[in-house]
Amino acid sequence: SRIRTGDQIAGQEINSFLSLAEERALRQAEHIDELVKTGTKLPPLAGIPIGIKDVLTMVGAPATAGSAILKNYHPPYDATAVAKLDAAGALLLGKLNCDEFAMGGSNENSAYGIVRNPRALDRVPGGSSGGSAAAVAADFCSISLGTDTGGSVRQPAAFCGVVGLLPTYGRISRYGLIAFASSLDRVGPMAHSVEDVATVLGVLAGPDTMDATSSQEPLSDYVAESKKPIAGMTIGVPKEYFAEGLDAEIRAAVEKVIEGLKAQGCTIKQISLPHTEYAVPTYYVLATAEASSNLSRFDGVRYGHRADNVKNLSTLYRESREEGFGAEVKRRILLGTYSLSAGYYDAYYRKAQQVRTLIAQDFVKAFADVDAIVAPMTPTPAWKLGEKTDDPISMYLADIYTVAASLAGICGISVPCGETKDGLPIGVQLLAGHFQEGKLLRVAQAVE
Ligand code: GLN
Repeated sequence: SRIRTGDQIAGQEINSFLSLAEERALRQAEHIDELVKTGTKLPPLAGIPIGIKDVLTMVGAPATAGSAILKNYHPPYDATAVAKLDAAGALLLGKLNCDEFAMGGSNENSAYGIVRNPRALDRVPGGSSGGSAAAVAADFCSISLGTDTGGSVRQPAAFCGVVGLLPTYGRISRYGLIAFASSLDRVGPMAHSVEDVATVLGVLAGPDTMDATSSQEPLSDYVAESKKPIAGMTIGVPKEYFAEGLDAEIRAAVEKVIEGLKAQGCTIKQISLPHTEYAVPTYYVLATAEASSNLSRFDGVRYGHRADNVKNLSTLYRESREEGFGAEVKRRILLGTYSLSAGYYDAYYRKAQQVRTLIAQDFVKAFADVDAIVAPMTPTPAWKLGEKTDDPISMYLADIYTVAASLAGICGISVPCGETKDGLPIGVQLLAGHFQEGKLLRVAQAVE
């Protein structure tokens, strides 16, 4: 009912929901009601209201990916993650605002308007899963799904003061996720507690014949794992994540977390991830290259918006894309097409792939000595709406602490760890090796 009153806080539009799937949610509610009445055992998410980032397909609501080009696209199938939530009894409320095709870090690139941060209404909620973080922070839903390609679950979680999980690449199926950069895209849950994201991970994790990159690695009981004690674990502190540019209040909050881990019996170890400084440029070469290829399917013929009154096929493609895509998406298609073009491939794309391997090896070496890594999630708290919209490079640079884990494919989580003196949420980032979600959630639970 709070959503029906207009998605507002203190008279200000949050704009987190783009569409509601009322019929579907009501049908599910009646089904759960029936189970309760007949005394049937309830599935793990029975009756829990959940919102879905609009880059995932869900029958009963449009899937716009925050783009005008998909304005009237009604997908005929559920993403695997959505289908699994449904089968677990969740009330799928509707679709959540996001940066267009998940490209951005502030939710200001959505064709359907900005999202406000419920914790500070004049500030961004982060992005690209800004609607997913805001809807949970505002209690419009208890849990949401976001996607994280280069930080898009973890950074908005930190900005809005909720928990956001980046599972290992391949842990959750990407089937039904509108692709941005396929080698980096991951689905991740957001919620108020570590236990809630662990529960959702338990529902979503596992192989899927519809996604060839989904993994066969064995699963764990993530909630049970998260409750184990952390005494005896070794936690790494990477020096590159505490360099110049880190906000003093965030540094202090993260140092307090480290003290707390020590007090709970962990050994704290200084480590180095020497290729960290190359993570942002590497990410932006690879992500834009993949995006330029993935987005070629939006041509005015196969999906979505089609330009009117065009004379021939090439004008149809050109005009439809010109009208349907926003400025940031066009910028990335251009960047990606450039770095993949014959004359530049070796200098940019191939080089970035090589550096990606070095970044991944940094983590492999680190996890030979430590169980988990603790670091700041973001260099600054949520910035003011409009502050970085004219300066895409400054927005890219704000991804400094998120993109290395994305390139390496490892798992991570953002957990709230206090607030600035102005009341802005601060998140701490925890990282663990491939398929070490159990360990990761255990440390997260201890930090919470
Ligand atoms: N801010 C990053 C970008 O704009 C991350 C986006 C994401 O993870 N989807 O690419």
